[in-house]
Amino acid sequence: MSVSPRPPRSVPRPVAPPHLLLVEDDTSLREALVRMLERRFEVTALADGASAAERLRAERFDVVLSDIHLHGMNGIDLLRLVRSADLDVPVILMTGLPDVDSAIEAMDLGALTYIKKPFDVGVLDSALARAAKLAALARAKREAIDAGLGGSHASNEHAALTTSFDRALASMKIAFQPIVDGRSRTTIGYEALMRSSEPTMPTPGAVLDAAERLSRIHDVGRCVRERTAAAFESGDDGALVFVNLHAADLLDDDLFDADAPLTKLANRVVLEITERAAISDISDARHRTAELRRRGYKIAIDDLGAGYAGLTSFATFEPEIVKLDMSLVRGIESSSVKRIIVGRIAGLCRDLQMRVVAEGIETTDELACMLDLGCEYLQGFLLGRPEEGRRASAYRW
Ligand code: C2E
Ligand code: MG
Ligand code: MG
Repeated sequence: MSVSPRPPRSVPRPVAPPHLLLVEDDTSLREALVRMLERRFEVTALADGASAAERLRAERFDVVLSDIHLHGMNGIDLLRLVRSADLDVPVILMTGLPDVDSAIEAMDLGALTYIKKPFDVGVLDSALARAAKLAALARAKREAIDAGLGGSHASNEHAALTTSFDRALASMKIAFQPIVDGRSRTTIGYEALMRSSEPTMPTPGAVLDAAERLSRIHDVGRCVRERTAAAFESGDDGALVFVNLHAADLLDDDLFDADAPLTKLANRVVLEITERAAISDISDARHRTAELRRRGYKIAIDDLGAGYAGLTSFATFEPEIVKLDMSLVRGIESSSVKRIIVGRIAGLCRDLQMRVVAEGIETTDELACMLDLGCEYLQGFLLGRPEEGRRASAYRW
């Protein structure tokens, strides 16, 4: 009887150990870590942030383990650099001086974990074990994509998104929409709204969405503030400018910088914080808003009525101004429920000495109702559309 030969068992390719970049400026700790890491990784060990940044631009790593306080470039900036090229690589940060701000920023940028020095070897070891597994998973996914089994290279998508996003920032202009005092019928200020000519990001929402995915919200905020200040500085009509903030902008030092272009105009600026986003994860929001007030800024709650129920944003920010979401304004003349709600909100805000802006007024009926209900300031297409360059409302009633 002839036995057909068994097909040769496929020999699994030897898997190279994952490649780890270690950045630590303390020589003895670095050497001890290398000894420990070499059991599981192929290690590249460097002492400062600048040379790590250079290496990261040239080479792909599976895991990054870095100190936060480094010469040249700190660990958070290094993490930002890693994320601009690769959304997935696990990054472990170590620090001897933990602080809430850097911990929050590290988590925002997708750090795998944040380890406090001196650490127990077991803590680092289990973080590394997890990082190694994630690195192996990412590698297996890349191999599946290379083998044509579906999916696409996230890094390619990431690179394409980065290119579009950079074009959106480079082309960003600011449109100004008038905000009108209902009694004097004069334009008291303008809301600054970003506009980009990048075709894949036609709305502010699309730009913000890309910024969130790329962990580059601060780049948007800085660009908006700089261009708003440049466009506003020239006018000396005493008008206010209302500038939208993303909740994460509250964590950006540039917002508080006395030399930043918008800070110089702060006593004419109202910062809008939207009710749509959760602000509970911004530690210290009260303290931060107090800092902003010290610089001269006023605070508005934006989109009231569209966000979470409850009064957290009132208690946290104690705003001078409240902007009613246009969902409360739309068709108000034929909704008694909306009229009751808006009437109550306007009355309560008056008692609390907060000014009310009604947003999104499109018809004369909506305008008449909002005036009747005691909304002091008005904004909407009826009174003036957002336009590049300031144009006061020409609407008369
Ligand atoms: P928002 O801050 O509530 O701004 C008002 C939005 O309503 C603007 O949309 C404005 O064009 C639109 N609008 C004004 N009047 C009317 C009206 O009568 N009818 C209708 N249908 N719409 C009206 P836009 O410019 O598309 O912005 C959308 C949102 O994107 C903004 O809502 C704000 O949350 C965000 N955004 C815009 N610019 C910026 C920015 O520079 N930074 C940040 N963080 N967010 C921004
Ligand atoms: Mg707004
Ligand atoms: Mg709004």
